[in-house]
Amino acid sequence: MTPLDIYKKLPRKNCGKCSAGTCMAFAVQLLRRMIPVSECPELDELTKKEIDAMLPGAGDWKERRVQELFQQIADMKFAKISEGLGGVSENDFLKIRYMGRDVIVTHSDFREDLDIWDKLLILMYIKNAGEKPLSDKWVAFRDLKDGIIRSESFHEACELSLARMFGKDYRGFLERILKLDGKEAQGFSAGHSLIIYPLPKIPFLVLLWPGDEEFAPDCKILFDATVTDFLDVEALLYLGIAVVRAINSKIIS
Ligand code: SF4
Repeated sequence: MTPLDIYKKLPRKNCGKCSAGTCMAFAVQLLRRMIPVSECPELDELTKKEIDAMLPGAGDWKERRVQELFQQIADMKFAKISEGLGGVSENDFLKIRYMGRDVIVTHSDFREDLDIWDKLLILMYIKNAGEKPLSDKWVAFRDLKDGIIRSESFHEACELSLARMFGKDYRGFLERILKLDGKEAQGFSAGHSLIIYPLPKIPFLVLLWPGDEEFAPDCKILFDATVTDFLDVEALLYLGIAVVRAINSKIIS
C-alpha cells in the first residue's frame, strides 16, 4: 500500500478543506494514521469506508485502544491525579478542559460525544498522570525527548497547516485559535504570539508570521519543557493535528 493507491481514491481537487491542505498530503497522513478519513468533506460515505478498509490495521483498532486505556485507568483515583493534570474531580468523574471546552470522563466512558482521536488523546493524558508544574521554559518539538524522529511530521502536519490557514484568513484564524483557551503572549519577535491550551498542562506557544510577496506565512510551535511528562512525542504529534482539526472544524464557531 502506497500513498498513491489512496490518492487515486480521493477527489483530487486540492480544495484545502482538510487540515492536510492537499489531496496527496491527505493520502500520506491517512496512511500514517495521522488524520481521519472523515476530514475530507468531498468524499461520499461509501468511498470513506473503502479507504478505511484499505488502511493498514483497518478495523476498530482505535476502539480497542480506547478500551485498553480505560482498563489502564480503571484503578486510578481521580481525586489524587486531578490537580497534577489541571482537572477537577467530583464523585467518580474527572472534568478536563480539552480544546476550549469541558470534557467529563468516568472510569468507563465519556459524557460528551467525541471523535475517537480526541478520546485517545484525553485517555493517554490521564493514564500518564503527569504532575510537574509548568516550567515556563519553551522548547521546540525537535528538542523534546525523541522529538527529532517525528519533528518533520509535526512541522508538515501542524506548523505548515496552521501557517496556511493563517495566510488564508488571518482575522478568522486568530479568532478561532484564541477559543482554545488562548491568549496573546508578549515578548516574542513573531507577528502574532499566542498561547493556547489544548489540554490544561500542555500549552502551545504559537508564533505566526504573515507572508508577503517574497515569503509564505510561517508558524512555529513551542512547548513547555515539562510536556513529555504528560504526553510522549507521538501523542503530541496527534494533539497538534487535533488542534489543526479543531480550528478547521465547526466545533469552534
Ligand atoms: S478536503 Fe479532500 S479534496 Fe480537499 S484537499 Fe483535502 S483530501 Fe483533497
